[in-house]
Amino acid sequence: MGQIRTITRRGLLVGAGAVGGYALGRGWAPELSRARGVATVGGSAAGATDGTLILNDASLLSATPVHSHQRVAASGDALVEALRAELKAARSEGRCVNIGAARHSMGGQAIPREGHAITVDNAWIEPDTAAGTYRVNGGARWSDVITALDPIGFSPAVMQSNHDFGVAATFSVNAHGWPVPFGPMGSTVRSLRMVLPDGDLVTASRTENAELFRMAMGGYGLIGLIVDLEVEMVPNQRLAPAFELMPAEAFPDAFLAAVRDPAKPMVYGRLNVERATLFEEALLVSYSPTPDQTDIPPAAGSGLVSHLASYIYRGQVGREQVKRWRWWVESGLGPRIAGESTRNSLMNEPVVTLDDRDPGRVDILHEYFVPPEAFGGFLEACREVIPDAFVEFLNVTLRYVEADAESVLAHSPTPRIAAVMSFTQEMTARAEADHARMTRALIDRILALGGSYYLPYRPHARADQFTRAYPRAQAFAEAKRALDPALTLRNNLWDSYLEPL
Ligand SMILES: Cc1cc2nc3c(=O)[nH]c(=O)nc-3n(C[C@H](O)[C@H](O)[C@H](O)COP(=O)(O)OP(=O)(O)OC[C@H]3O[C@@H](n4cnc5c(N)ncnc54)[C@H](O)[C@@H]3O)c2cc1C
Repeated sequence: MGQIRTITRRGLLVGAGAVGGYALGRGWAPELSRARGVATVGGSAAGATDGTLILNDASLLSATPVHSHQRVAASGDALVEALRAELKAARSEGRCVNIGAARHSMGGQAIPREGHAITVDNAWIEPDTAAGTYRVNGGARWSDVITALDPIGFSPAVMQSNHDFGVAATFSVNAHGWPVPFGPMGSTVRSLRMVLPDGDLVTASRTENAELFRMAMGGYGLIGLIVDLEVEMVPNQRLAPAFELMPAEAFPDAFLAAVRDPAKPMVYGRLNVERATLFEEALLVSYSPTPDQTDIPPAAGSGLVSHLASYIYRGQVGREQVKRWRWWVESGLGPRIAGESTRNSLMNEPVVTLDDRDPGRVDILHEYFVPPEAFGGFLEACREVIPDAFVEFLNVTLRYVEADAESVLAHSPTPRIAAVMSFTQEMTARAEADHARMTRALIDRILALGGSYYLPYRPHARADQFTRAYPRAQAFAEAKRALDPALTLRNNLWDSYLEPL
């Protein structure tokens, strides 16, 4: 009961703050340029126009014509047959194929131009508590996985910070989360079955078809269509948070100490985003198991606190004083009112909580993987590049990613601090051009520090930046051509970056 009281008090306090901030800032954003009369871009959701079927993704800036879009609600043999049928039809027409899940990637990475798009909607999951693993349909979403594992006392080992994404999609971008001290999600996959471009069904793991496994991990659906996977799970836990505010330069040491502490299974960081004092302060948030691990409550959905906090978050657009105020709520008020949670509840957060409710703008993510020893250079690069940009910087979350020595297109070949950044952008050509300029400037700086950038977001990097960040891209493209000479499995990552190699 004490816990319920805590959450209610927390909800009331944050709620009062959110309503206050929203009312204060509503309709008044003095530092936001007005877009009236300016040429707009994007915005169209998926649909049919003039008989042309269009598919888009979460950016709303990737509208692409496709030949067809099949939603397949099958698993096992039926799914294998459905995927083979789509491949056969596409090959006979000389078209390409791509399979997607939530299509939250932001640059057409899950869209086949003029080709056959497939989305799998099936939540088949079979846990094996003795082995500490579960078999799962590639199209299942993390919300399905949490729903299946929570009642038996388990939790996903690694998933993103939101639960809407597909499991095979997560493997295919080799995503990471904030449970520690894990590498990317691929490191928790024991094996998978996939249909290759020629229709063959293969099992791939570290011991069987190992090269295909390494290419498909972070291979953006270009190697095979994943049917199902065997994935590791960990015990669900009741966790209590701890907060530490510090100068940003002190963050890497404190973060690495927390990540290496076995008593802290979930750890993340934040930096302040107000322009005048950008990245001066860091907040380290770590969760530890409580002494009493009996009677763990069921996974909660997105709570009142998250919904109310989203109003403060949105209030930041064009209002530097609200950014400052949000940082105080997060680093000053939050630690005093935060309560216990469970591992599953912390990861059971839908993306919709972040929705900007503004058709004239879109949130675009960036992510950079920085060697911890280069973190000071990263702070400096961001302080020099971000404040000048026309896009509005709203948030950064810092995560730990253990070295990935397996995947061919590895974003973190050595241990990294991952900086997940969120910008809000006007749906205009001027904003798109400036966003591309800023992204390239940031990537240049981060490559010079020995870091890399993440591939599921806007395709703004130059070709030379891509090959510097992913030095095995050429080998990947050559192996892909040998496996798929007709280039049946394609998407915009292939078309824009890999095809020319
Ligand atoms: C709000 C938000 C929060 C995010 N948070 C994180 C985070 O915490 N950590 C992180 O690492 N990333 C994060 N991301 C990025 C995210 O992990 C990727 O965008 C991921 O692709 C999203 O999953 P999806 O289901 O939308 O994939 P989709 O965009 O549908 O697909 C992604 C790729 O996987 C391939 N694919 C999908 N299904 C299959 C299959 N069955 N077989 C073969 N290939 C397949 C697709 O072809 C495509 O190339 C976030 C993104 C957003 C928008």
